[in-house]
Amino acid sequence: MKKVAIFGSTGSIGESTLQVIRENPDLFEVVTLVAGRNIKKLIEQINEFKPKNVYIISKENAEILKDNFKSINIYYGDDGMEEISNLTDFDISISALVGIAGLKPTYNMIKNGKTVALANKEVLVAGGELIMKTAKENNSKLLTVDSEHSAIMQCLNGEETNKIDKILLTASGGPFFDKEISDKITVEEALNHPTWSMGPKVTIDSSTMMNKGFEIIEAKWLFNVEPSQIEVVVHRKSLVHSMVQFKDGTIMANIGPKSMQIPIAYALNFPNRLKNNIEKLDLFEIVDLKFEKPDLKKFKCLKLAYEAIEKGHSFQVVLNAANEVLVDSFLNKKIKYTDIPNMLEKVMNMYEKRELKTVEDILEYDKEIKEKTRELISEK
Ligand code: NDP
Repeated sequence: MKKVAIFGSTGSIGESTLQVIRENPDLFEVVTLVAGRNIKKLIEQINEFKPKNVYIISKENAEILKDNFKSINIYYGDDGMEEISNLTDFDISISALVGIAGLKPTYNMIKNGKTVALANKEVLVAGGELIMKTAKENNSKLLTVDSEHSAIMQCLNGEETNKIDKILLTASGGPFFDKEISDKITVEEALNHPTWSMGPKVTIDSSTMMNKGFEIIEAKWLFNVEPSQIEVVVHRKSLVHSMVQFKDGTIMANIGPKSMQIPIAYALNFPNRLKNNIEKLDLFEIVDLKFEKPDLKKFKCLKLAYEAIEKGHSFQVVLNAANEVLVDSFLNKKIKYTDIPNMLEKVMNMYEKRELKTVEDILEYDKEIKEKTRELISEK
């Protein structure tokens, strides 16, 4: 029986993870649930999965949980997150918080030598070098549940990454690939992703293709390749989850149903595959597998991600921090859709290169960039 900790249990990845566990009660046991604000969903999950440790952000909500669940260890606030992410009573953790909030807890688990399956790509965008170095030093196994990166991991199937010629990172293109991008785009339109159902931030990031920029950085760290070896390939149907082209010209592709439960189950039970009830693909129904190039003029966020990769680590921290504030402001209807790329560019141009060595350095810089971005928004 594998003991599982879920950071972000009330989110889209968290719920898919719990569905895999629900279908495999003999294989997995939930020991830790970490949530943000959704106490109603968290209580349902506690009742069903009976964890030992639970986190929620606010003290008020933590008090409610303490009153209702006397035998569970309840954590809250920054100190509580520090404590719960330093527990070692699990075999594998799913790191599925959203944004920079996941960096320190993921770092703690890796520092403690634990196995972590990473969904939270912003962790590698902001702290890739530190995370990979810490994982190596502490013998921590880092897996991925991002569908593209899981696909790449499966295509590699243990082959050494020095045999890779190119990684072909597929992208759905989001809701605006074939449409005009204008400042009239509403939150509802941007949240209407054509192929995946995900949390709000990653859905907006997919619509601007910032998500793909983040995934290039994620792939660079996970597979130890140069960014120039990663090519973004738009594939509107989201059936090919990514490909690896080897030096002899062979391309291995991972093709399968659109369900996050598949990469999650693969990571949870790595390297074995689990049976599931997800409808299998009928290849005769797939008329074509079309691949297109992304337009970097139209998807400025992807262009900015390439620039941040070129310029170095601190620019990736700027990209991530400013984007987090801008996406949140768009979701709260404080800025227009086109303000996301335009203001992001403005913030990126305001900063010089900086040396960021520790998690604390990164978090401090993230805070500074966010304050500056909020200031620019309020001046608009
Ligand atoms: P959601 O917004 O659906 O879920 C985020 C989860 O994190 C929720 O449980 C939320 O709690 C919790 N959370 C957020 N901030 C905090 C905090 N400060 N402290 C504690 N808990 C917090 O996001 P997704 O599940 O869609 O995505 C999670 C990560 O996985 C992202 O980095 C995303 O890019 C990545 N990813 C997602 C995919 C998907 O299909 N959804 C695919 C590949 C990667 P609450 O809701 O209770 O407030």
